[in-house]
Amino acid sequence: MLLDVTDLRKTFPARTGLFGNVIDHVHAVDGVSFSIAEGRTLGLVGESGCGKSTVGRAILRLIEPSGGAVRFEGNDIVGLPADRMRELRRRMQIVFQDPYSSLNPRKRAGDIVAEPLLVHGIANAAERREMTQAIFAKVGLQPRQMGLFPHQFSGGQRQRISIARALALGPRFIVADEPVSALDVSVQAQVINLLMDLQARDGLSYLFISHNLAVVEHVSHDVAVMYLGRIVEHTAKSTIFARPLHPYTRALMAAVPVADPSVRRDKAHVMGDVPSPIDRPGGCHFHPRCPLAEPRCRTEEPKLREVRPGHRVACHLAA
Ligand code: SF4
Repeated sequence: MLLDVTDLRKTFPARTGLFGNVIDHVHAVDGVSFSIAEGRTLGLVGESGCGKSTVGRAILRLIEPSGGAVRFEGNDIVGLPADRMRELRRRMQIVFQDPYSSLNPRKRAGDIVAEPLLVHGIANAAERREMTQAIFAKVGLQPRQMGLFPHQFSGGQRQRISIARALALGPRFIVADEPVSALDVSVQAQVINLLMDLQARDGLSYLFISHNLAVVEHVSHDVAVMYLGRIVEHTAKSTIFARPLHPYTRALMAAVPVADPSVRRDKAHVMGDVPSPIDRPGGCHFHPRCPLAEPRCRTEEPKLREVRPGHRVACHLAA
């Protein structure tokens, strides 16, 4: 496996009052495990605040994990010294949701894309310019656009610059954190197709984080569904869309609009809003919203278990 994540945890202190006293801890990521093989995409889905972006950042150590192991190319990167981490980061990159705020507005696009090469001391100025031109072409931008500033590009083009910057160091793995959510629907498909073309050409692996199930269905090989910091269902894309087993997954799918009126969706509904991650319900965290909840769901936490080969579900009723 290229990436193995085992029992990943991240807690944040919850503070209150004038002096910011710590009153509790938020379990943003609570025991998350999965693997991603070379050239594969894992789609990580869930509602806002479920912890999926925290997973992506903790894997890259943009925030420090509170516990667990992250093995990349066989190295456990949690606790790795800064110089070794810097070396590995060349092969682990991230593309953020909002290309406008993630690009320095005062830098020219060519300098933004070349910056990682400069920081890592790769090649001389002329070689870097040549490499940057090649990366621009790879993401469908014109080399002559290297002299423009971010505001002179469209939203879709700006996201191409972000992708180009992530590609500069020749990564093997990219965390794509809601990479098309801030884009017009008309250009979302172009950026998704670019990511898929790059994967087909270079064998890239992606952790594709999104709240949009339709997008996840298009790009992923496997899908993991998160709820309040935990994975509640994880299996192959074809399996989860054909036969979702967790009530939360079914509810997410029921909410996806279907263009074809002859296709009928399961009428699964959830009640209320996502509870606060500071005060998660006991037992199954999903029980206050679950239409199938039983008395034991309030007290017994369902473990994520393999109910069929390669299909893990955290629900007492899944079989
Ligand atoms: Fe619903 Fe109970 Fe399953 Fe949780 S364990 S998803 S509350 S049926």
